[in-house]
Amino acid sequence: MKIFCVGRNYIDHAKELNNDIPPEPVIFMKPPTALLRNGKPFYIPDFSNNIHYEAELVVKISKNGKHIEKEFAREYYNELTVGIDFTARDIQNKLKDKGLPWELAKGFDFSAGVGEWIDFTDVLKRSDIDFRLDINHDTVQTGNSSNMIFSIDNLIIYISRFFKLQAGDLIYTGTPAGVGKLKNGDKLEAFIGDKSLFYCEVR
Ligand code: ZN
Repeated sequence: MKIFCVGRNYIDHAKELNNDIPPEPVIFMKPPTALLRNGKPFYIPDFSNNIHYEAELVVKISKNGKHIEKEFAREYYNELTVGIDFTARDIQNKLKDKGLPWELAKGFDFSAGVGEWIDFTDVLKRSDIDFRLDINHDTVQTGNSSNMIFSIDNLIIYISRFFKLQAGDLIYTGTPAGVGKLKNGDKLEAFIGDKSLFYCEVR
């Protein structure tokens, strides 16, 4: 099982981190050991003083495919949820400055929070999906899939040029603006529409 993530897929988030709008998707991966299931606590790791939350729509690949073409892309996913791409921003900034890979900042154990899966048939339109993250009952991030720079279909087309997609693979589709630092005791709850799908406490 592979976990793909997309960097800078919302213009407002690229701007808040002073990044350019990418001409092609920025893709990185997390190992399967990064998964943090819904309801489990997130423990702040000892190697970072600046763990950020990034709330993202997460899509589950439903069948194997390679070089997937545009008209077939939507046949390759049927379930989605909301998840958190936990990021060691202090480490990521150091790596970015040196042009080094991001794995230590992005792929560490339990850095991929994943919510309960819902079927796309429960969602009105694939291209118009509202999601949000609340911390301690205050909304800190809101997003809508229509604001993605690269749509879910386009991400599947792009990623499958390089990697064979397999049933069960996940794609974290990028975060909108509003990312920030987590502290001990924070309670994270993430929603698609008004469905609460992910909950986690920071320790
Ligand atoms: Zn992210």
